[in-house]
Amino acid sequence: MSLDLVKADEHFIHVYNRAVCFVKGEDVYLYDDEGKKYLDFTAGIAVNALGYSNDELKNGIKDQVDKILHTSNLYFNEPAIKASKYIADATGLDKVFFTNSGAEAIEGALKLARRYAYDKNPNSKGEIIAMNNSFHGRTMGSLSVTGTEHYRTPFEPLIGGVKFANYNDLDSVKALITDDTCAIIMETVQGEGGLTPANEDFIKGVRKLCDENDIAMILDEIQCGMGRTGYMYAYQKYGVKPDIVTTAKALGCGVPVGAFVANAKFALSLVPGDHGTTYGGNPLATAAVCKVYEIFEKENILDHVNEIAEYFDEALKGVMSRHSDKITGVRGTGLMRGLAFSEEYKAADVVKACLDKGVVVIIAGGNVLRMVPPLVIKKEHVDELVKVLDEVL
Ligand SMILES: *Cc1c(COP(=O)(O)O)cnc(C)c1O
Repeated sequence: MSLDLVKADEHFIHVYNRAVCFVKGEDVYLYDDEGKKYLDFTAGIAVNALGYSNDELKNGIKDQVDKILHTSNLYFNEPAIKASKYIADATGLDKVFFTNSGAEAIEGALKLARRYAYDKNPNSKGEIIAMNNSFHGRTMGSLSVTGTEHYRTPFEPLIGGVKFANYNDLDSVKALITDDTCAIIMETVQGEGGLTPANEDFIKGVRKLCDENDIAMILDEIQCGMGRTGYMYAYQKYGVKPDIVTTAKALGCGVPVGAFVANAKFALSLVPGDHGTTYGGNPLATAAVCKVYEIFEKENILDHVNEIAEYFDEALKGVMSRHSDKITGVRGTGLMRGLAFSEEYKAADVVKACLDKGVVVIIAGGNVLRMVPPLVIKKEHVDELVKVLDEVL
């Protein structure tokens, strides 16, 4: 590594332990500053769904740079109009608000739920039920609903009125509902927490609870949305629809953009002056969103995910059977997968060894190795991953 890591970190606030500097991507491979090639099973954490060589995406972004980068949300812009329609169609919901990140989409979703409750009762305490082991982001609001102690504790007091239930345990959710509850928020598939999909009974039960109490069901699909589970949005597998969904990560495939999307009933409670953003949904970001949706459609990305996910699943089960002394379970769904390790083996060490051997994977909570590759990976890439995993283990 030619890069001097100490020097490189000199002017960064040290919140990441970085060891590599990627300078280029091609297909589903990354190259570092020394020209070393890596197979990418991380995709910038579930962002680069289309890999690194999609010319249509790149050219769409370049064309927009030549037209106009930014106006303001005081005015309409053409790519945003088109993108809002694509998102409404894809989610089955009515109204979109664009943000710059996932965390901001969560902030907006929480504000919307509280605004709806306030309209009904200005004295509502606006309580929110969130899940243990969840991850919703790093801002004060999104951290307030993130169910991981060590992320939260140093930054308390966070926003009030948040209670934590256990994921996939409907009774634990029921026990927390009061007249002041305004929302239940959860990931459709927990990502950072360890690649855990919602059980069908649980997600349907939460839907029913929200209907009965006239409160917002918020599904965070920032990581599991955009085709990663083989459905455009993961909740579509269960035949349930949230009141509010958050989307980001692969939404712009590398251009920073997110959104919260709501049905009309909830969305109409926000009125001019209630919420806003300078950059959110600017022409550059939403031009990327338009291209992403168009390419997903044209290249049948969902069909491809479903096909390759089956192969990937078999391959991971094979890895587990060959290393059953170390691996305790295959987690996740679609192209959002994990390998859980027994206590004596640290997933973080496996991640590091894979990186040395030219494969990029990451960790998730609960000693899990997480794989969220570009959705365009092929069987040969799965084979390449498996070969390295076998060597490393
Ligand atoms: C990444 C992530 C977020 C936060 O998104 P940022 O763009 O990093 O703010 C929120 N929820 C889930 C499920 C995520 O995976």
